[in-house]
Amino acid sequence: MPDMPTLEDWKSRISKLDIHNRAFINGRYVDAVSGKTMSCISPIDGKSITEVAECDAEDVNLAVQSARAAFEKGLWSNMAPRKRKRVLQKFAEKIKSNMQELALLETLDMGKPITYSLTHDMLSVVQTFRWFAEAIDKVYDEIAPMGSKELGLITREPIGVIGAVVPWNFPLDMATLKIAPALAAGNSVVLKPAEQSPLTALRIAELAVESGLPEGVLNVVPGFGPTAGQALGRHMDVDMLSFTGSTEVGKLFLKYSGESNMKQVALECGGKSPNIIMADVENLDAAAIDAAANIFYNSGQVCTAASRLLLDESIHDEFLEKVMAEAIALKIGDPLDPSTEMGTMVDLRQTERVLDYINIGQEEGAELSHGGKRIGDGCYLEPTVFQNVQSGMRIAQEEIFGPVLSVLTFSGIDEALKLANDSQYGLQAGIWTSNLNTAHRFVRELRAGMVTVNSWSSYHPVMPFGGVKQSGFGRDFSLHGLQKYTQMKSTYFAF
Ligand code: NAP
Ligand code: MG
Repeated sequence: MPDMPTLEDWKSRISKLDIHNRAFINGRYVDAVSGKTMSCISPIDGKSITEVAECDAEDVNLAVQSARAAFEKGLWSNMAPRKRKRVLQKFAEKIKSNMQELALLETLDMGKPITYSLTHDMLSVVQTFRWFAEAIDKVYDEIAPMGSKELGLITREPIGVIGAVVPWNFPLDMATLKIAPALAAGNSVVLKPAEQSPLTALRIAELAVESGLPEGVLNVVPGFGPTAGQALGRHMDVDMLSFTGSTEVGKLFLKYSGESNMKQVALECGGKSPNIIMADVENLDAAAIDAAANIFYNSGQVCTAASRLLLDESIHDEFLEKVMAEAIALKIGDPLDPSTEMGTMVDLRQTERVLDYINIGQEEGAELSHGGKRIGDGCYLEPTVFQNVQSGMRIAQEEIFGPVLSVLTFSGIDEALKLANDSQYGLQAGIWTSNLNTAHRFVRELRAGMVTVNSWSSYHPVMPFGGVKQSGFGRDFSLHGLQKYTQMKSTYFAF
């Protein structure tokens, strides 16, 4: 990487960081009404980075009022698409010029390697803002096929106030997947970042206003899920709630909606994605490198992690050996060191949750082939591989959200499909084969929102992102993702 700072450079920048720790409501940083704060802990050393405003229902209410007032005022919601585009483009460029600072905040806050914060997360954030900015003035409405004495217009309007609640695994990236299309479509937004990782969202709120986004259009309320998150989910003046997080909490948002104003709900939830390797795979080495990378990346804290590896029995031993070699070679260490490939887990609670699953796997009778232990007494875990996993085991069914791979074997396409689809989740599935007919059959029969053939992660804003079954519904990215933040109006003209 040409301009990647060194470990020492990154460390020396920490004390100079401009950290915003208050809520952002109506274009200004403000304390929580209650005056309460929560500690923002770095999993790297367990120390507090700062105290962050702990918002609750009262602050959420103020943020929703500010979002509603901005929406009604129309400076943003009625702005010509080409002008909204310019503001969002400027916003993207401001984020780009602050990328290193944002990457450092992200890594300190949740422990992912700085190299990935910078080259994956922040680049993806900039790319997503640019893409939705560019899209706004390229989409047309419709005219219905009616007689010459009638005119039927089908127009798309912004929905109003969007509540966005997001997780900590890709804090700013996940927030952007909501904010960028919601703003592009002309809505106002109230964002609740995860309690573990609020710093980047709070920082970019200011950059948005500096880019020309009118006050009140983007509000950020850090706080806990059961208080601030629930208040947003139950608010009578929020028109849509867009959520990324666990299936368990996703279900709560459906309940909140049903018990309040029937707001629209869009859910991007968990996964337990199968990665299927057929014996005829063209390049076994490439498949093994990819299989390991996509369970250990971000310490396995990825909704689309390739957490179930399904191996044809004839290549099982050879393939597993290659995957383990990758696990052994992984450089685990200080996330601020640019050469680190695996940093910490997000916090102690998640570290212990994953260790519990490792115990469960052993108790269930799976064979621990590699790793399984905590490194030191903080948030570092070894990459872990279980073999002889049966589909009914909890480590094959439940989302562990850690660097734990469950390996299952199959014989033939029918059994592979049966195992792959034996899940409450349906986010992503991967199939590796050199036979086109085989690939086609898997693509048709895998129950997943996203299927990859001879690769795993190839996400791009042009492709809808999301799952089926209990992985949620609604799609992020693409024009479908933009449309999600609009509502349709049918207008009849009579002549
Ligand atoms: P989580 O526990 O479901 O939390 C997600 C968000 O919901 C956080 O902001 C959280 O707030 C909030 N929340 C928690 N309890 C709540 C409640 N009772 N009412 C309202 N809001 C509540 O998920 P996580 O542990 O942060 O993230 C991991 C999960 O996200 C995994 O299941 C992963 O698969 C999923 N994920 C899915 C996608 C996708 O696109 N499909 C992408 C990334 C992650 P606090 O944390 O502040 O309490
Ligand atoms: Mg943190």
